[in-house]
Amino acid sequence: MADQQEAIRNYQQQASESDPMIQAIQEEIGRTLTAPTLDNKDLPTNFMGSTPLLEGEIFRAVNLTKSYGTGAGYIEVIKGLSFSVQEGEYIVILGPSGSGKSTLLHMLAGLEVPNRGEIRMRNQVIEKFTDDDLALYHREQIGLVFQAFNLLPSLLVWENVAFPLMLAGAPLEWRRHEALKVLDRFGMSDFATHYPTQLSGGQQQRVSLARALVHDPDLLLVDEPTGNLDSKAAEVVIAELDRLHKQENRTIILVTHSQDFLPYADRVFYIKDGTLLTTSPNEQSSVDTPQ
Ligand code: ADP
Ligand code: MG
Repeated sequence: MADQQEAIRNYQQQASESDPMIQAIQEEIGRTLTAPTLDNKDLPTNFMGSTPLLEGEIFRAVNLTKSYGTGAGYIEVIKGLSFSVQEGEYIVILGPSGSGKSTLLHMLAGLEVPNRGEIRMRNQVIEKFTDDDLALYHREQIGLVFQAFNLLPSLLVWENVAFPLMLAGAPLEWRRHEALKVLDRFGMSDFATHYPTQLSGGQQQRVSLARALVHDPDLLLVDEPTGNLDSKAAEVVIAELDRLHKQENRTIILVTHSQDFLPYADRVFYIKDGTLLTTSPNEQSSVDTPQ
């Protein structure tokens, strides 16, 4: 805990005028980035990981730490990172390349295990999952979207979208029905019987969004979704995510280096040196209604 306080002080100092990214974010959201604390003001001050989630809270990460072994020893990529997410929130985590965004997202998705810390999703502790629990977490609770789309080239578009339902053992007709329904929501039904390679990057990313949503997950985890797109295609994906948040009330955690997402977020975090800078909660209202 003392380490964490020390880290907070360090990063507050570093969140100075010397970082153009931080300055740009502050200008964009009209607020100052401050300490990387858990920003739910109702949490007890002696808060420890194993406290159950509060009313309205869907997800929480506490004191996450992750290191990788390299030839030269260990590098600590994530260093005591904490945050909490309310149902229906759109959280954007910004950071430059190599700042640990994908590492963080993979841990939240249960694809990588933190060295320390705790991740809770609806009062389940992810680190305690058995293999079966983890499979259920992926099949039912979260939807994942990656920069590189990760569509299966040998499957048709609708089969890609229906893939999570196939893993869940759903019958063929129902899978096809659900896949077409969600493709339609993304304006992609005309491409249902195409192969992914026949689509543009922007279209592939919309298919990948459809696949992430076909099982109606509680939480969407998105990694750099516009990283492989030109600016026009990126705009469409940004607008789709905004629609998912505003119209479908989806809970979204998105990591990116692109400031284009900032105006749409309920809250913005900046990842730097393995932990988060955030905006102070008492100023929250100014960002609730982005123009
Ligand atoms: P970002 O997504 O923000 O670009 P990453 O999470 O991919 O950052 O990587 C953060 C740091 O962790 C980088 O220095 C990267 O080289 C290192 N890293 C990521 N994955 C591994 C791994 N499997 N083994 C060793 N180092 C890794
Ligand atoms: Mg990354």
